[in-house]
Amino acid sequence: MGDRLRYLRRALYALAMQPDIRVRSVSKIYETEFVGEGQQAPYYNACVEIETGLAPDRLLTVLKEFEESEGRDADGHMLPRPIDLDILLIGDRILSGDRLLVPHKGMRDRAFVLEPLCEIAPAEKFPDSGETIAEACAKIRRKSGPWIVPLTDVGLLPNVAGEPVNWDLNKEEWRAALAVHCR
Ligand code: AMP
Repeated sequence: MGDRLRYLRRALYALAMQPDIRVRSVSKIYETEFVGEGQQAPYYNACVEIETGLAPDRLLTVLKEFEESEGRDADGHMLPRPIDLDILLIGDRILSGDRLLVPHKGMRDRAFVLEPLCEIAPAEKFPDSGETIAEACAKIRRKSGPWIVPLTDVGLLPNVAGEPVNWDLNKEEWRAALAVHCR
């Protein structure tokens, strides 16, 4: 809800600023029809690939703390929200704890997850079925589901318009790159 682009960019910035997280790649932003009970305004979705030394549970805590710091109500599942950060895949690991399910439950049926993920990790496999993201994405495209449109004029990074991105930016460079959008 609110300024969706700004919230997404702030989330990327927060991830990139974590000492134990390195951002490796970022998808385009996709505007997507709300999926769920009732009616809601369209969402913005994007996927990022990170490398981290954080344990999965700790990573989830970092994500949830950021959501809360952005004003998200911890009970606000499926309600309009400033930001929702999920862990989709962690290499070939399968986690089925009380707090964390990986691969993320429901991601296989959601174009708003698979389309951006396919852009940055088409050959990545679901660790249980061995299906690739590209295959899962092709399947969902054959069904006529909710609409989903990639944004071509703006992206997570300010300089998305075709310029190559250096993912090894240092902290100061990241700060400069996103400062305008993160105030
Ligand atoms: P959400 O409404 O999407 O923020 O999800 C609410 C809860 O889902 C979180 O508090 C997590 O404990 C739980 N959850 C289970 N698996 C995952 C996952 N892979 N990524 C993020 N949250 C997860």
